[in-house]
Amino acid sequence: MTWKCANCGYTLFEKQPPDKCPSCGEACEFVDVSCYIPECGGPDSGGIDGRLYKKEKE
Ligand SMILES: [Zn+2]
Repeated sequence: MTWKCANCGYTLFEKQPPDKCPSCGEACEFVDVSCYIPECGGPDSGGIDGRLYKKEKE
């Protein structure tokens, strides 16, 4: 699973999101931005689904 901090945008590849964001040090909400389609490598690749990633930025 690829997780993105909803606060600072930091991404990491882990089974579970961390309690605290390593980047901004806050107990942020982590959004699952894992890629589930072959176009970006599939769920085991650590790839990010660009559509999910961008959606949070807006
Ligand atoms: Zn953060």
